[in-house]
Amino acid sequence: MKKLTIGHLYPDLLNLYGDRGNIQCFRKRLTWRGMEAEVIPFLSGDPIDFEKLDIVLLGGGSDREQELVCQSLQGIKKDFQAYVEDNGVVLAVCGGYQLLGSYYKTETKTIQGLEILDIYTEWEPERMIRNIILNSPLFDRPVVGFENHGGRTYIGNHTPFGKVFFGLGNTGKSGYEGVVYKNVIATYLHGPLLPKNPHVCDYLLEKALRKKYGEEIRLEPLPDELEHKANSYIFDRYNDKKYVLKET
Ligand code: GLN
Repeated sequence: MKKLTIGHLYPDLLNLYGDRGNIQCFRKRLTWRGMEAEVIPFLSGDPIDFEKLDIVLLGGGSDREQELVCQSLQGIKKDFQAYVEDNGVVLAVCGGYQLLGSYYKTETKTIQGLEILDIYTEWEPERMIRNIILNSPLFDRPVVGFENHGGRTYIGNHTPFGKVFFGLGNTGKSGYEGVVYKNVIATYLHGPLLPKNPHVCDYLLEKALRKKYGEEIRLEPLPDELEHKANSYIFDRYNDKKYVLKET
């Protein structure tokens, strides 16, 4: 039986807005297809053997929790970088997204990141909180979610995860959201992201399965009519020109 091992990094600290629902989604969509998922939670300070992992989830957290987790991250930095460069699959959400960059400068401190992505984040007092909809070049249907962050993320020479159709995204000004790099999706979309967007879940599962079992792997479609209906409903609700951010 095919099996993926999912590493959930720091659920004790990076655990905002139901980000762990993404793990459930990975697990369910594998088991519905007759495959197995093993989920390993790593608490901050635990050693991590990245060679055993097929997917890594790094969720969101408050500035305080990000600061606490920063030390553990510095301890696994080299191994995490090597995992990503070797096409390991990562979903990093909000605080987790910020921590993949060089730093996150909060109101009072600078938190060192993993330097996996060429990005940096700087805090501003006005929080960016709202529903968000993206058009991503990876998918033929929108990606919907919820964002809540004080940090503005400036991305270097990276492909964004999507173009903001409604919402604020990386900086509130660039018109773009998140980053896609190798098999990493890094995004501000909480929500949780994957149950709302099964197409994103399957994209990551397929990447992980292909890496482990070969490029010919194709995931069978699942009956996602309800999810698609909800996705279209949200999209239609915000499909009003006045909300569309101007391209810069
Ligand atoms: N603390 C970070 C910020 O406010 C990330 C928040 C989050 O993960 N929702 O920007």
